[in-house]
Amino acid sequence: MEKEYKLGSIVMMKKEHPCGTNEWQIIRIGADIKIKCCKCGRTIMMPRFEFNQKLKKVLEL
Ligand SMILES: [Zn+2]
Repeated sequence: MEKEYKLGSIVMMKKEHPCGTNEWQIIRIGADIKIKCCKCGRTIMMPRFEFNQKLKKVLEL
C-alpha cells in the first residue's frame, strides 16, 4: 500500500534522526526522495521504494 505524500509534506520515519526529532520535510520527489530534518536541517536522499518502507506516517500533507 502506497501512502500519500507530496512535495513539502511533513513525515515521520520509522527511525528517528540522532538529533532527536522525527519530523522530516520532503524537499524532492523523483526516482529518489530527498527529505530534510526539521530540527537540524540535514538532508537524506534515498530511493523511493526505500522511503516507502521507512515511512511511518504523514503528519502534514
Ligand atoms: Zn536531525
